[in-house]
Amino acid sequence: MSRSAHPAGPRHADVLPEGHYTAPAEDLNALDPKVWAHTVGRDADGVVTVGGLPVTQLAEEYGTPAYILDEADFRDRARAWRTAFGADADVFYAGKAFLSRAVVRWLHEEGLNLDVCSGGELATALAAGMPAERIAFHGNNKSPEEIERAVRAGVGRIVLDSFQEIVRVAHIAQSLGKRQRVQIRITVGVEAHTHEFIATAHEDQKFGIPLAGGQAAEAVRRALTLDGLEVIGIHSHIGSQIFDMSGFEVAAHRVVGLLKDIRDEHGVELPEIDLGGGLGIAYTSDDDPREPHEIAKALTEIVTRECESARLATPRISVEPGRAIVGPTAFTLYEVGTVKPLDGLRTYVSVDGGMSDNIRTALYDAEYSVALVSRTSDAEPMLVRVVGKHCESGDIVVKDAFLPGDLAPGDLVAVPATGAYCRSMASNYNHALRPPVVSVRDGAARVIVRRETEEDLLRLDVG
Ligand SMILES: *Cc1c(COP(=O)(O)O)cnc(C)c1O
Repeated sequence: MSRSAHPAGPRHADVLPEGHYTAPAEDLNALDPKVWAHTVGRDADGVVTVGGLPVTQLAEEYGTPAYILDEADFRDRARAWRTAFGADADVFYAGKAFLSRAVVRWLHEEGLNLDVCSGGELATALAAGMPAERIAFHGNNKSPEEIERAVRAGVGRIVLDSFQEIVRVAHIAQSLGKRQRVQIRITVGVEAHTHEFIATAHEDQKFGIPLAGGQAAEAVRRALTLDGLEVIGIHSHIGSQIFDMSGFEVAAHRVVGLLKDIRDEHGVELPEIDLGGGLGIAYTSDDDPREPHEIAKALTEIVTRECESARLATPRISVEPGRAIVGPTAFTLYEVGTVKPLDGLRTYVSVDGGMSDNIRTALYDAEYSVALVSRTSDAEPMLVRVVGKHCESGDIVVKDAFLPGDLAPGDLVAVPATGAYCRSMASNYNHALRPPVVSVRDGAARVIVRRETEEDLLRLDVG
């Protein structure tokens, strides 16, 4: 039988490089709870619902593409992190994953703190009423204006990233008659991504001050002499989309080693350590993330054990999850525009968004899953690549996936786990209008970031 006679069949899997695709789920209509927000399901007609609302209704009301965010799920995950770490630790949500005023209010209400890394993120946090003392300010090149704003606002900590910044922040704080609480970000020679970590990663990167060669110790030495600074601790962030805790184990060992050296040299026990973020989520059914309570238990045990053997009082721990809180809470809803079978290869499904609303696939070769959400289908699975509408052949949203073979223009598909680093990294490439973020909860939907309009674009273009 000729291949073209069955354009919808599950053929051609043999042409894919091994290990680069997920075999079709037994039932393409099933929604793996690991990769979808908590309240996602299908109604009696087979339409996917979230927060009690069918996606068909959301598409009609808010258009596509759109990020649909499950507020209850966001709050649950934020609260789970908060509860897991308890009163003796702090959870800072990494705002760069996705930040809006609504999100800041939810975090505030759920008892989390907030990381920002630019003047714009700081402005959003303050505008939404996050108390300044619960904000941490990050970044490897904060401008003097940004530093001054942060110090004036009274942020709880500034994380210092270089020798020049140590002096800069001290000077600005002093000139404002303040003593700024700071942490010093170090690189511990550990790099962790997904399932592997390298304990001897060289420090060839822009963030942090290397522990190697005594540079971090020298940074602490200098910072301790400056009146404008109150050094409260050491900061380490080792990577992203991490599942394996052993990278944190090595990082904690090295950070505590530095705390011990500081105690021995200066007679000071720094009261805090921050182990950063980077905890992984399930983008596909192949990923198995840990629960916040397991992560909290593991990190607390590691730090406590290391401190006991160094005879140090256990410092207050903080962590900075971004992706692990917001990532799984949203999906991107698209309408299918064209379905193009390429004989002997795969079927290209073009949606009405693309790399302007999700750059991660093009940028990091990220893996995503996809589902038909406006109806169910019993058609045979077909191997697809979900692509956008941009003028770029690398404009891929989902590289390899299976969708029902009867997929047609006008169907709605959704890509789950797009809550983190999608809207926050969205661009106007091809003068695309950045999609809205619609939050849903208990049968009600609300736009928390509206869709861009052509007027928005033209307003910036002053002719
Ligand atoms: C990006 C970043 C985070 C958050 O990372 P996630 O992978 O979203 O958890 C936390 N801390 C620092 C310093 C970061 O740069």
